[in-house]
Amino acid sequence: MPLTCDVLIIGGGIAGLSLASALAGRATVIVAEAEAALASHTSSRSARQLIPSYGPPAIRELTVRTLALLRRTEQETGRRFLTPRSFLLIGDEAQVREQASSHMAFISHAEAIKLSPELRPGSFEAAGLDTTSFGCDTDLLIEHHRTTAEAAGARILTNAPVTAAVRGDGDGGWEVQAGARTIVADTVVNAAGAWADNVAALFGAAPQGLVPYRRTAAVVKVARPLLPEQPMVATADNTFYYRPEGDQVLISPSETEPSRAEDARPRETDIQALVENINSATTMGIEVVDRAWTGLRTEPADGHPVVGFDGQTAGFFWLAGQGGYGFQTSAGLAELAAGLILDGTADGTGVSGETIAALGPRVVRSDDVSRRGQLAAMPAKVR
Ligand SMILES: Cc1cc2nc3c(=O)[nH]c(=O)nc-3n(C[C@H](O)[C@H](O)[C@H](O)COP(=O)(O)OP(=O)(O)OC[C@H]3O[C@@H](n4cnc5c(N)ncnc54)[C@H](O)[C@@H]3O)c2cc1C
Repeated sequence: MPLTCDVLIIGGGIAGLSLASALAGRATVIVAEAEAALASHTSSRSARQLIPSYGPPAIRELTVRTLALLRRTEQETGRRFLTPRSFLLIGDEAQVREQASSHMAFISHAEAIKLSPELRPGSFEAAGLDTTSFGCDTDLLIEHHRTTAEAAGARILTNAPVTAAVRGDGDGGWEVQAGARTIVADTVVNAAGAWADNVAALFGAAPQGLVPYRRTAAVVKVARPLLPEQPMVATADNTFYYRPEGDQVLISPSETEPSRAEDARPRETDIQALVENINSATTMGIEVVDRAWTGLRTEPADGHPVVGFDGQTAGFFWLAGQGGYGFQTSAGLAELAAGLILDGTADGTGVSGETIAALGPRVVRSDDVSRRGQLAAMPAKVR
């Protein structure tokens, strides 16, 4: 017997699980995750920071909305996802000005050194500070969404890779093969992260030109630990960022290197170069690399997520392309997606018309698609 539901969500990362929780009690929901564990790809590999000054205007708006929704959930549940942690952007003056937004104040060189005394004075010229930024307990957030969805009756399937789909006649919805299960759903949501264009092909939907980009991070032991309340520090020219992680430090080379959709792994040479770079810009003295990982930040050419019903393929909804903003936009995007799926409108979601227009599935240029096509890892299989 097939399983039936109103909404089948493909992908059990932060995107799919946030939506499952936003739909709780309002629709019957199944989440199909290919892996044995939820959130084992990009959603378990982030830097866990929500930064209102980071990203294009649509992202900043969704980040502010996400923070408001998460604070409300904290009050309702007593769970604490957010911890204040400022964001300090350093570089030359032109670079800092270019990236600064209304959430960021320019501060003097001396103020920046006071906040982050490990910075060598000659390593930067100008600085901007976002005091509205938060660290996020992403494990707790994911667990919250899972339990909220399941408490409302959602079925969350692991070891359930979606490999084939066929559209029923008339209003028959989609019949989808997910591992050993057959699932019949009115609406299918594509929240498959780096694999979202491949999943779209299973449904006969045109790709959105989504490109996965590598981003590496590591946790290191240092000779002079940072204080827990110190800001996250990032260079405006994207050469590195770091922040306190307990009595250790989380570091990243901020790379943006196109990749296939895959289980990405860090490279020893990248980590060594990063350690040398941060040791030359700071006095923290990195001694040992405790652990390192790489995830894929997937986005289309214009850098905006893709959220909305596909224009050509009935009952197929996109929730993909969140790039490096998947957590900081998660609740805002889930609220928007739930409104569009259930009510056909984004009214009452608190998201502006401009942002909604920027996120809708695009008509993609053929060169974007061929760029993505060269990187595709998973053969498309349409039954
Ligand atoms: C180093 C690094 C630092 C980052 N830092 C931040 C940060 O500080 N703040 C922030 O907001 N964001 C950050 N990000 C980005 C953020 O992690 C992502 O935007 C977010 O995790 C994407 O979530 P997702 O659910 O779309 O993708 P994923 O977590 O990858 O989930 C997609 C899921 O779909 C599943 N799937 C794929 N194909 C199928 C199929 N055919 N059938 C079933 N399931 C399938 C996959 O197995 C996967 O579990 C960072 C990313 C990296 C790599």
